[in-house]
Amino acid sequence: RELPGDPEPENFRRAVHGACFSRVAPTPVRAPKLLAWAREVAALVGLPADPGPDSDELAEVLAGNRVVPGMDPYAACYGGHQFGNWADQLGDGRAITLGELRGEGGLRWELQLKGAGPTPYSRRGDGRAVLRSSIREFLCSEAMHHLGVPTTRALSLVETGDAVVRDMFYDGHAKPEPGAIVCRVAPSFLRFGNFELLTARGEHELLARLADYTIATHFPELVSASGQASAQTYAAWFAEVCRRTAEMIAHWMRVGFVHGVMNTDNMSILGLTIDYGPYGWIDDYDPDWTPNTTDAMRRRYRFGNQPRIAVWNLIKLATALQPLVGSGEPFEDGIRAFAEALDHHTRSMFAAKLGLEPISADEDPEDPSSGLGLASAALRVLGSTPTDMTIFYRALAEVPLGREQASDDELLAPLWPAYYEAEPGELPATARSLTLAWLRQLGERVRGENLDPDRRRARMFAANPKFVLRNYLAQLAIDRAEAGDPSLVGELLDLMRRPYDEQPRHEQYAGKRPDWAKNRPGCSTLSCSS
Ligand code: AMP
Ligand code: MG
Ligand code: MG
Repeated sequence: RELPGDPEPENFRRAVHGACFSRVAPTPVRAPKLLAWAREVAALVGLPADPGPDSDELAEVLAGNRVVPGMDPYAACYGGHQFGNWADQLGDGRAITLGELRGEGGLRWELQLKGAGPTPYSRRGDGRAVLRSSIREFLCSEAMHHLGVPTTRALSLVETGDAVVRDMFYDGHAKPEPGAIVCRVAPSFLRFGNFELLTARGEHELLARLADYTIATHFPELVSASGQASAQTYAAWFAEVCRRTAEMIAHWMRVGFVHGVMNTDNMSILGLTIDYGPYGWIDDYDPDWTPNTTDAMRRRYRFGNQPRIAVWNLIKLATALQPLVGSGEPFEDGIRAFAEALDHHTRSMFAAKLGLEPISADEDPEDPSSGLGLASAALRVLGSTPTDMTIFYRALAEVPLGREQASDDELLAPLWPAYYEAEPGELPATARSLTLAWLRQLGERVRGENLDPDRRRARMFAANPKFVLRNYLAQLAIDRAEAGDPSLVGELLDLMRRPYDEQPRHEQYAGKRPDWAKNRPGCSTLSCSS
């Protein structure tokens, strides 16, 4: 290990100065049981695809009950801006890294247990995670990966056999809940907040060591021939973080994912989606929606605000990196790189979603027949009456846009399954005229482009998932698992392995959110505490 470990032998809760992490052992649990296993992640890190007869032994390790030779567990020290305010030291309060495994192609993967017991960073928390939040993290990490969104991964879900009590009201009563541990996997779990904390404390030497380590380990292409990092190296690194973050956000917007807690301690330096807490998926399209009840008043982390918050967070990172470069403003290019990358990915994403040729940068977005004009109109159409975003885009491939003579009803027919309030044939007048005008304009462009219909359809299907991890689906898996049957977790993992494929056996999971789920906690809103 190249960074200094925490010299303190004890692991009491405290402010940890002069260190990037603290060595700490997981706290054993009563009766670990392996509930779910992601074979693709196992393959990445060189573990068996099927734990089979080894599953009890694996559960012991993945619950933190057994630390095997070569592991040197630690919790990371970081700070962060939470909901816009500097929160000072946070750190891994319930996550413990076991170590790294070398996988295919020599890639290094960090294995981290979430919910493995208290650390010096636990503050007032118990270091544990409940089953419901662990199921949500396990399933969503993998769903996002298979959707093509950069993300941390999840290897395993272990029930601990211990009860966890949250000081919150969930589903009407405070009650003991089953505890669980997810083993998450990523090349690194470093966050913006790791750098911010060192700068906030004036620990500039350590900041430089951590930055140089990060660049050398995770951005080796940026290391100069001399091996000595310069202001230019740091600026190039920051710009790369900006580009990766932009790409991640563009994907969130494409699939309808709302992170819910985009605090800087939840922003990965690798541009991965990290920390699956009160996240949610857009059912009926609403750019102002946030699943996070803690954020309900201000809606800082609402769906449509995610690109803006990403920039805000990147500016905080730039500020934290400033001591590396002395004076000057070498990070401004990075912020520009974010805007350019977001614009680039947004154009290519909307072109694919709408089944158009690539949208060029010099098209005038104010022109309603331009690619971006059609894209922004799509959002107005989605917002004109409660419309399921996922179903709408998927169904768009079935709208007969290639036929100029198609009637209004023929154009609208494929979209009926997406509407929450309108009965087939009965769209409110304004929504109806807005939608038809847009479809006709889109049709004109589609006919002008003359893309082969099969290719166009394949392109659209590859950008518009048939299945997403709808909030209510995860909740169904949770309800059943809490009642003793974890099988739906495995079934949903399997479903989400091929989110872009038609899966006739699973058609029921492609439908709209059912009415009962509209206002049920867990299905529409979540709190940070889990
Ligand atoms: P989050 O909102 O999930 O990003 O968490 C913010 C901070 O609270 C991080 O430092 C977490 O490690 C810490 N934290 C959250 N839940 C717990 C818990 N149950 N026990 C200890 N620390 C926690
Ligand atoms: Mg966090
Ligand atoms: Mg969290």
